[in-house]
Amino acid sequence: MFDKLERITQAVTLADNRQQALELIVDKVCNELQVEVCSIFLADHERDQFILKATQGLNLRCVDQLRIDFNEGLVGLVGQRGGPVHLESADSHPAFHYVEDVQEDDFSAYLGVPIIYQRRILGVLSIQQRDARQFELDEETFLITLATQISSVLSNTETDLLIDESEQHRPVRCIHGIPASNGVAIGVAKIMFPSLDITRVPKRSVEDIDAEIRKLRKAVRRTHIQLEKMSNRMKGLVSEQERSLFDAYQQILGSEGLEKEIEEKIKSGNWAPFALKMVINEHLKAFRSMEDPYLKERANDIEDLANRVLGNLLRRESRKFEPQEGTILVAESVTASMIAELPLDKVSAVISMTGSSTSHAAILAKALGLPAIMGLEPCQIGRLDGKNIIVDGYNGQIFVSPDLALINQYEKLVNDELKFFKELEKDHSLPNTCQDGTSIALLVNSSHPIDFEKAQKSGADGIGLYRTEIPFMREQQFPSEESQVQIYKNILKGFDGMPVTIRTLDIGGDKQLPYFKINEDNPFLGWRGVRITLDHPEIFLVQLRAIFKASIGTKNLKIVIPMIATIDELDECYRLIHKAFDEIEIEAQDKGRKLYPPKIGIILEVPSTIFQLKQIIERVDFISIGTNDLIQYLLAVDRNNLKLRNLYSHYQPAVLQVLKLVVEQCRSSKVELQVCGEMASDPLAAIILIGFGYRGLSMSAGNLSRVKRAISRFSIAEMEALAKQVITYETETKVKSVLLKAMEEKGLGGLVRAGN
Ligand code: PEP
Ligand code: MG
Repeated sequence: MFDKLERITQAVTLADNRQQALELIVDKVCNELQVEVCSIFLADHERDQFILKATQGLNLRCVDQLRIDFNEGLVGLVGQRGGPVHLESADSHPAFHYVEDVQEDDFSAYLGVPIIYQRRILGVLSIQQRDARQFELDEETFLITLATQISSVLSNTETDLLIDESEQHRPVRCIHGIPASNGVAIGVAKIMFPSLDITRVPKRSVEDIDAEIRKLRKAVRRTHIQLEKMSNRMKGLVSEQERSLFDAYQQILGSEGLEKEIEEKIKSGNWAPFALKMVINEHLKAFRSMEDPYLKERANDIEDLANRVLGNLLRRESRKFEPQEGTILVAESVTASMIAELPLDKVSAVISMTGSSTSHAAILAKALGLPAIMGLEPCQIGRLDGKNIIVDGYNGQIFVSPDLALINQYEKLVNDELKFFKELEKDHSLPNTCQDGTSIALLVNSSHPIDFEKAQKSGADGIGLYRTEIPFMREQQFPSEESQVQIYKNILKGFDGMPVTIRTLDIGGDKQLPYFKINEDNPFLGWRGVRITLDHPEIFLVQLRAIFKASIGTKNLKIVIPMIATIDELDECYRLIHKAFDEIEIEAQDKGRKLYPPKIGIILEVPSTIFQLKQIIERVDFISIGTNDLIQYLLAVDRNNLKLRNLYSHYQPAVLQVLKLVVEQCRSSKVELQVCGEMASDPLAAIILIGFGYRGLSMSAGNLSRVKRAISRFSIAEMEALAKQVITYETETKVKSVLLKAMEEKGLGGLVRAGN
């Protein structure tokens, strides 16, 4: 059965569009299972109906014509049951619904299974047979397995169709993703393609060998032409010697041998990209093992050339990203470093197929006030290129090729929002207090110089979290002690007289340095944060020395350590911190200057620390709750996993219970408490955190004025009462809806949705 499944799914990957894929499936299922009928109905959720989209064995004229209500017939029964319906004699079943034109009178054996993607029914796959016979059990499991595999193909194409259909201004529908950074933008989508990487081409087999060879020859021809054009363009700009690189490429590519070798691999059944990879790998191995440094270096040229041929094979060139004003950046995987390099005057929003609201790209987008949507429904992003789109960062929705009415509606929202922000700006000079006058420290999470400006303008009480890894990401190698000193000095000086909490390097997980690659199966449970810096004291000590050097003469430094899981780690950190402090103190004294001891704390984000709070409190000056990671480790939900986006929420009752417990356990100690995860940036959540007893919130600079306005309209007593109420709820939807209602009642809905 496995082989049959493989053959069908392989065939589906060759289809150019959804209809072709469906036709291939029904055809292959009939062949492989030796059944007379196979049909696929797809769900039309707007009309609560199934539509016959492909069949082998029934009347083809009914395709796209036959519609069956969700509660009608055997197809409806499969949908309602959400499981297989297996009948020996379909026509005697009470749900059987006779439709004359379909011509299914003779097929009494029926087996239908639902096609479900992420709890949503996409359609029904069925087989039918003339002889009254039970289908075998393994035929049933086969069909169920096939349905799970095609569900993701279908869900992708469903979204693709939406993108194409939206051109004709069908009823307005949107593509969903995770709301990652608030705000609304209207602009033109521009795709940033990742550079192609031959090393990541997967193994795949092909049946039509001749077609694959033709594709290869065409790709090689296109590559020749491109190389020639490049060489001509460089004439006069670079020396002849440098230009000869293109001739060398042409020679390698032109050698009969190379193309023949690739064709041989295709003839053994491999698709062309993998055949190319196999041949190139052999050549790379040979070049890389050479002694001569010049020849060794040629391996890079061969790899570059292979990537170029690959681009032509996949008909995708690695295009340069050159945004115009109002561009909306769209990419398969937007990373924090990509955002760090964006021209911010040109890019007005960001859309990423992967990631979530707490991925570091999202955090950076929030800090920059760029509306962002992460974890978009699966689709071919290439189709979005050049399209007009509306990005609603509040609801995680994008509208492709919107009609004028929708554009007008959103333009009004954008204007309302601008007005609302202007209005919020009036609060900037006011102190950060609740309605009854209680002060709350509203601090900013920062990683980018632009945050400093925003933080200062919006009246922040200091920097609650400075993520040092972001400047590390912009480098080509670990930054030197001196260059780090400059970075930390800027921020300590910029916020003179206010606390500045510098976090020691927190790489790993979804934060990679281009020059320190970590490959792990489980990066979020792996080598990250303090685990790396303790294993590399040479990196840790340079950073600590730089932080202390920068702080000579200032009294506002706080140091926070990420990913502490055990007391041993904390003690070892203290040992290294003291070592670096003592060294710099001597250097400072020699120059007649004073180094003040900083406050030291941890980010509480690994659940084990909740159960060792007593020992931690004895050691640290402050604790900052990193809800982004705490939530993922508490609920066992990868913070960037698209499929789990509904589960990852700071309104989950278990999360609220933990936050309440920590504040209660710290109450009798001198330890300062604050929350620095993204939860603190959410005005709704901020109300609850204050209600629990937190008095320090560190958030994205872009959200400070929202939180400031929200807390200024609630008294401590009101927030405590709300917190007391929501802590009794059992579901996150209930928690969220009660908080939303409380916000609307205060006339503050505009803080958490588009508009005012
Ligand atoms: C957190 O985990 O909440 C946190 C502040 O750190 P980061 O998001 O950088 O992992
Ligand atoms: Mg963290």
